[in-house]
Amino acid sequence: MANYRELWESLGVDLKKHDELCAVLPEFFEEIYLSQNDRPENMNYFNFVVSEIHGYRIQELADHKEKGAKVVGTFCVYVPDEITFAGGGIGIGLCGGSDFWIPDGEKVLPRNTCPLIKASIGAKLGNTCPYFSSADLLVGETTCDGKKKAWEILGEYTPVHVMDLPQMKREKGKLHWMDEIKIYKDKIEELTGTEVTKENLEKSIKLINDKRRALQRLYNLRKEENLPISGKDALLITQIAFYDDPERFTEKVHALCDELEKRAAEGVSVFAEGTPRILVTGTPMAIPNWKMHHLIETSGGAVVCEETCTGVKYFQDLVNEDNETMEDQLRSLTDRYLNINCACFTPNDGRIDDIIRLYKEYKADGVIYYSLPFCSTYAIEYKKVKEALEKEGIPVIMIETDYSLQDAGQIKTRLEAFFEMLDAPEK
Ligand code: SF4
Ligand code: SF4
Repeated sequence: MANYRELWESLGVDLKKHDELCAVLPEFFEEIYLSQNDRPENMNYFNFVVSEIHGYRIQELADHKEKGAKVVGTFCVYVPDEITFAGGGIGIGLCGGSDFWIPDGEKVLPRNTCPLIKASIGAKLGNTCPYFSSADLLVGETTCDGKKKAWEILGEYTPVHVMDLPQMKREKGKLHWMDEIKIYKDKIEELTGTEVTKENLEKSIKLINDKRRALQRLYNLRKEENLPISGKDALLITQIAFYDDPERFTEKVHALCDELEKRAAEGVSVFAEGTPRILVTGTPMAIPNWKMHHLIETSGGAVVCEETCTGVKYFQDLVNEDNETMEDQLRSLTDRYLNINCACFTPNDGRIDDIIRLYKEYKADGVIYYSLPFCSTYAIEYKKVKEALEKEGIPVIMIETDYSLQDAGQIKTRLEAFFEMLDAPEK
């Protein structure tokens, strides 16, 4: 990585602590990613993004900021990036996926809090994440209790705007969410000094839809009998989608898909024939949380799809691009975003339908229900999901785990037993 120390210093990053983080990541990435066989050549761009994770993009954001742009950090796929970009802002996803940030999070949060929340708060409070330091505004949402209370703490350190997400998908909930999107639009205009107009919103809807279309194309290739890309690599790409430049990212994903299409035509597979195909569902996996995928793919399975927010929930629905007025655009945004099936909603049967549909579309052999500890909505929802899957004859196991590797051996044993039980060759 080039030398970005001056830049980090200007952002108030704790250099000494940050060095510790930078020292472990390359080794970790090497072991998990670069050691894979037969990776597509076009993964090189995404390798580069990780190798420069706190450099290149941070410099880009700083350059944009110098020209007056504002950086907006978000933590949930319900926050509409289209509004951020239309108002001249740059949206970046900020969820923390590393154990490294947990101790700083635990200084202000109870230990029995979801690791995603602890890591996110810890990254900000410990000044060890230049993305947090680059953000002019953080946008939270009222999805789960842990997050709701965490925003109050985060607000003591930096400007925070909270979007009030309804948790039932009724007509009044829709009207309320549309109102919240309008309030968010006003907030962005106030922050950037740029009016969100029908024209710039039209452009940003297209920009973000294009990114989603590229990811849809990538995921469609994972439906192939011969898998041209590993689940780990696909996960990495979706994680990068949250903070990379959207236009460049879209172009790079399409370049990769061109290569993958060729591989698919030639019958190239990165897994041996008969490897059990796994659909992962559950809580999001924020970068660099690659634990579950790595354990699955080194225990004899292949991840073919993620029914998560770092998977299809992020891109499976597009925003309608055919809108006559700005009110129509805002309604289209409301409809698209309220179509996401997070476990914070009640009832949330749409998620069960999604899991069963994706299982069939991706020709999966089994489902792994992944949950971070202390995420009660996803953990409790397992009962209904399990019952529905069992009715369909779909094998499922739940694995609850945090970011640490202490339980890796135990999880591998459970995974191996699960894969053995799956009757993959008959599929
Ligand atoms: S799991 Fe729910 S709260 Fe978490 S990012 Fe996804 S939609 Fe948001
Ligand atoms: S994983 Fe669960 S507890 Fe953690 S932030 Fe997301 S919804 Fe909240």
